[in-house]
This record gives sequence, C-alpha cells and structure tokens, in this order.
Amino acid sequence: MDQRTHAWIAIRAISLLESENKVPQLIKLLKPHAKEAAIGAWIPDKRDAKLGGAKTQNHVFKMGPYAGSLKSRFVVSQKKLARKLGDQRLVTSFLAANDHILDKAWWKQPYKADPSPGQHLPNRAMALSINNIDMLILGDDRVQNFVPGRIQFIEKVRPTLRCSSGQIALFFFMLSHFLADALMPCHSDERDLSDYNNGLHMQLEKHWSKKVGTFFTEKKLIKDNPSVRDVLKEAKEIDRKFDLDFQGSVPQIRSRDVWEEMVLVCRASFAVASVIAPPAKWPYKPATQKPAPFDLLFKQNDKGEELLAEVDRVIMHDAVMNVAMVWKYIWEKFS
Ligand SMILES: [Zn+2]
Repeated sequence: MDQRTHAWIAIRAISLLESENKVPQLIKLLKPHAKEAAIGAWIPDKRDAKLGGAKTQNHVFKMGPYAGSLKSRFVVSQKKLARKLGDQRLVTSFLAANDHILDKAWWKQPYKADPSPGQHLPNRAMALSINNIDMLILGDDRVQNFVPGRIQFIEKVRPTLRCSSGQIALFFFMLSHFLADALMPCHSDERDLSDYNNGLHMQLEKHWSKKVGTFFTEKKLIKDNPSVRDVLKEAKEIDRKFDLDFQGSVPQIRSRDVWEEMVLVCRASFAVASVIAPPAKWPYKPATQKPAPFDLLFKQNDKGEELLAEVDRVIMHDAVMNVAMVWKYIWEKFS
C-alpha cells in the first residue's frame, strides 16, 4: 500500500472508532492529529526509517509450504482460522466462499514464514503496540487526562520528558502501517510473483491508490491543511469506492495478543494470495515461478473483475478494522 492508502486507512479507523463510541477518550487524543497520518502512517516505508531494518521489504511475513520438524505446529485449519479471526473480518467469509480453490487438502498442509532478522511483520506490530502503551503511561498532563486511571510515578518524570498527544498519535499511525500491511497478500506470500516488481504487487497497490485518490497525499493533508472535520468526512466518502459497509462495531481481538493476532492475519493474507493466484496454476517454491500479472488475473473477463472488486473490498475493510481493533485493544489495557 502506498502513502495515501496508508493515510486513509489510519484516518478511516479513527472515524470507525468514533462512530462506535467505545473509546471516546482515545478519539479525543487522536482526532485533532488525524492529518498527521499522512506522515506517521507512512514513516515505516520511508527511506530513512528503513535504515533501521533491511532496505526493501523490511516488514513482511512471507509464507510457503513447510517441510521441517514439528509440522503440526504450522497447520491452521480453515475452521480454526475463522474462529480466531472472527466473522466481522470479511476475509473469513471470503476464504469460505473460495474453498473450491483452497480445498481441505490445502488447509491440512503446514505453512511457515521465515523472515530475515528485523523484517518480521508481527514482531514490528507487537513492538510498537507495547511502545504505544508505554508512551501513554508517560503522557503529559493533557494525555494523563485522557488515559483512564492514575499513573503512580508520573510526578517523578520531568514534564519536559513526557509524551505529547501529537507524538503519541504519530506512533499510533506508525503502528497502523504494520497492521494494514498484514492485510496485503503479497507481504505474506513467498512466491516470486509477489515481489514488488513482478507484475502484481505494485499494480495492486497502484490500483488501490487510484481509488483512494489524492486527498490523502502528504501535500494535501500537511501543506493544504484542511479542517479535521473535512478530513474525516473525505475518509468516509472513500467507502463507496471499495463498496465498504462498516456496521459500526469493532470486535475484540480474540487472541488477546497482537503478535499472535498478526500471525493469524498474515496466514489469512497468504490464503488470499493463494486464491488470487491459485497454487494449482502458480505452484509454491521451490517450483520455478511464472509471474501472475495484474491484468492476467483481473482484467481478462468478468470473473477477474469480480474477483478484484471482492479483493478490494475484503482487504480495505479488514485493514481499517485491524487498525481499529488493535488501537482499541491498546486503549482498553488502561480501563
Ligand atoms: Zn510497508
């Protein structure tokens, strides 16, 4: 996902949580800074930020068939995945509707990711989640007024060392980046066809970016400085471009653990990649890979177009939901 798609997902998550109204204090903290999502939600993909990890693909969880020991640890049945992720995530029904492509035999196989040190996407999401909790604990007076409960030692921390709501919002937006990337199928599929320049990954991201539109670019949000009200309103307008219909409630994360939850989300994304480019036609490694170009998959006939519309809807819905769920989970640590 590119800069404007990431910014839109983070901003849309704010308005989703606002309409649910279960964490109003968190919204009071984040909402005035909504525009900064243009920077914050994109920091993890900025060149400077990548110095901390690998140069490219620095947060992925690319899976493939696993042939090592303890195989059963790496099998997740469709039923278990659906139960763990919950039915409010659209990926659950998407995978059920495509069980003719991913049949019982597919779900019985072990699949595993082997990310290089520092690239592990669920690790990055978990690390920032805990960091954000600590920042809330160390918040300045304004932040302390939002966060439920009383931090006992805060008086001992010099006021100049405490975190402002703007800093905290920026880090929530950075976290949203990883939570959204977990939904991008190419980030969870080890096949060469998922590489950025192989005809699918970049094209899919460009396709989403075009739908999101230019309102969420850094230039528009930071330089032109629209009102927060307009920003949230524009974010909701994008729903119809992806045929989204949020029901207004944000479920709990069932695993009660951001790391485990993201591993499961990535497992679902790997399955989505395998629906988009079925392994029967595009085998997993070590087979030599043919590219699965965007046009070939989605632009040949009505079936392809329908699949694309469904993929758009499922991924964008679940990306926004994923962000809202984890933000809410972090906040509820305090209540
Ligand atoms: Zn990224």
